[in-house]
Amino acid sequence: MSEALVIVLKDVTLITVDKSRRIILNGHIVIDGSRILRVASGSPENVPQHAKIISLPGRIIIPGLINTHAHLAQSLLRGLAEDLPLHSWLCDRIWPLEAAYAGEGDQADGYVAARLTIAEMLKSGTTCFLEAMLTHRSGIANVARAVKEMGIRACLVSSSPSSSHTLRAPFHLPH
Ligand SMILES: [Zn+2]
Repeated sequence: MSEALVIVLKDVTLITVDKSRRIILNGHIVIDGSRILRVASGSPENVPQHAKIISLPGRIIIPGLINTHAHLAQSLLRGLAEDLPLHSWLCDRIWPLEAAYAGEGDQADGYVAARLTIAEMLKSGTTCFLEAMLTHRSGIANVARAVKEMGIRACLVSSSPSSSHTLRAPFHLPH
């Protein structure tokens, strides 16, 4: 094993979501740095001396969740446009507010919003997300920086008002 921190989570229920959908009622996971080395039942064996061992009776471990519909910029806009129909909420309030995003570096609104949203996703077990509508004022570089710094996986798609993919209300989603 490498010199990275080895963590062993034991005495835990594991929902593997592997090919056979195994659920291990009293198992353990051995993690070496950013890699899962072993998922098995019973007590861990051959654990390195420097490993950090954590007992989690009564807890359940699942794979990381994937958020397939996130808009990172909007975390800063909560509460600014409540109780409106979707079209008005988006066109009259949210998109104009997003268009006013400004700042650079650590102070960039797009960067701060991305960090807040990613922190919330990580806290609730989300390890990957799809952002399909990054506005140019958020800055894809700001978001990519936050993704890299915080260690989450992401699929990022930018859009702009000149994009041929601009949505028009009312929305008609394909089935
Ligand atoms: Zn959306």
